[in-house]
Amino acid sequence: MIKIEQLSKSYGSHQVLTNIDAEIQRGEVVCLIGPSGSGKSTMLRCINGLEQYQGGSITIDGVRVDANAASIRQIRQRVAMVFQRFNLFPHRTALENVMEGPVHVKNESLAEASERARDILASVGLAEKMAHYPNQLSGGQQQRVAIARALAMQPDAILFDEPTSALDPELVGEVLGVMRKLAEKGMTMVVVTHEMKFAREVSDRVLFLDGGRIAEQGPSAQVLTQPRNERMQDFLRRVT
Ligand code: ADP
Ligand code: MG
Repeated sequence: MIKIEQLSKSYGSHQVLTNIDAEIQRGEVVCLIGPSGSGKSTMLRCINGLEQYQGGSITIDGVRVDANAASIRQIRQRVAMVFQRFNLFPHRTALENVMEGPVHVKNESLAEASERARDILASVGLAEKMAHYPNQLSGGQQQRVAIARALAMQPDAILFDEPTSALDPELVGEVLGVMRKLAEKGMTMVVVTHEMKFAREVSDRVLFLDGGRIAEQGPSAQVLTQPRNERMQDFLRRVT
């Protein structure tokens, strides 16, 4: 579904991604791991057109992602993103946050958007919190609203950039639980995370990024237990 070929990206003279090749199949869950500064966020941002890239290509079901093209709006509707900081609208309730995209981007009627938003919020365990504003919710609840907001766009894939890194440790589990449920339902997901237990148990494949290159990739069980790459062995010792 997502095909990345020889992707290269730099900021000015600073090369951040070099010759990245990766494919993500529909229904697959892929964890993207690697040291800070290795280019994980940049790679996600390139996939949904938030960043321009200089070399190679990214296609989503054959449609080229190109930050200049008119197709970018379409790509962003099909590939949603969930960030480390939840980025909710502070003056809107949970329900209004989830309805925002369907109403303003997809021109859905208020009735239709509201009905689906309620169902989705219930599915992430927030049936009782729909009328709450972000500052009345815990970090874990806010992140679940952010996931609900992504789901409301009925995306083909969701990219997660360290979705639990900003959370207090006791709130991490509820967010990973929602993500695990999505994975089981067959959602295509690319997840940047330092949660190795989640990577091992939920993801099909792991990509290890080091200095803007994919240093190792393969089935999670294999790559996480017997990494060949020395830098990856080092990395795993530090995060687990
Ligand atoms: P990661 O998410 O793996 O920590 P990033 O993709 O955020 O890594 O960053 C990769 C590299 O690109 C880092 O060296 C970072 O400083 C640089 N970088 C990221 N965003 C920008 C930007 N907007 N302008 C210039 N350099 C950037
Ligand atoms: Mg990052």
